[in-house]
Amino acid sequence: MKRIIMLAAATLLALSLPQEMRAEKLANKLFGARATASHQAPQAIGTYARGCGAGMVQLPESGPTWQVMRLSRNRNWGQPELVQYLVDLSQRARAAGWRGIYVGDMSQPRGGPMTSGHASHQIGLDADIWMLPPSSLQLSAGQREKLSSISIRTDDQTRINGNWSASHMALIRLAAMDPRVDRVFVAAAAKIAMCNTAGRKDRAWLQKVRPIQGHNFHFHVRLKCPAGSPLCRAQGQGVAELSKGGDGCDESLNWWVTTYLEELRNPPKRAKPSGPRPRTPREFTMSDLPKQCAAVLSAG
Ligand SMILES: [Zn+2]
Repeated sequence: MKRIIMLAAATLLALSLPQEMRAEKLANKLFGARATASHQAPQAIGTYARGCGAGMVQLPESGPTWQVMRLSRNRNWGQPELVQYLVDLSQRARAAGWRGIYVGDMSQPRGGPMTSGHASHQIGLDADIWMLPPSSLQLSAGQREKLSSISIRTDDQTRINGNWSASHMALIRLAAMDPRVDRVFVAAAAKIAMCNTAGRKDRAWLQKVRPIQGHNFHFHVRLKCPAGSPLCRAQGQGVAELSKGGDGCDESLNWWVTTYLEELRNPPKRAKPSGPRPRTPREFTMSDLPKQCAAVLSAG
């Protein structure tokens, strides 16, 4: 009884505080707590790393050519275009010699910032696809928690390793060639390998394949803003890559296996930027997101 009275007193005190004195709740906690999508028309709202998704749909946990991994995370949600894209890619994967695909994180049911991992994946247009070619598409939920993907590059990050195969390149090429795709992120070592082996004529798709840190256990597909999402803000194209013949197979790519790695080993002393540090997605509150995201969060 005493506890109940104390709780009630604490609640009253909290309610009587002015709005700005109550700790603002973190957006990732709020979005992470929603287990289902909003009953709204589908719409991607904001940018890939600052936004949310209305009316999202769930990629079924299993299909003839795919399985969703780590079901406990409940991150197999996306815009209808992303779900359809993944089903299509999983079927095309057979032409690349894969049985299908293992799908990693997409978005939370209503998108938004996540409590762990990823800065992006917030508006239902990003998906991670495992580098591990499926050996079975009948994995149990338990197996999908335990199984790990494989890394396709050496530990020093400079080159691909023996796990990389021509079929990885074939799958990534198919993933990138789809007109719905804006870009595909992959470890620099993999892009270098693909730049070296792509034929002279068939290179336009390489422009969409972008080197990035990590992304050796999975590649990451990002779709363009779909029609019917006027509040979705896409990225611009990488200027450096477009200005040099378009395929991004140039010194800017080499930077990832030279200067970038060197600076990881020996961080250069740089002047501290003035002003407050910009907030990371994990520190966002609702006021950092487009205002329509409040309705996405509270909708039935
Ligand atoms: Zn990703």
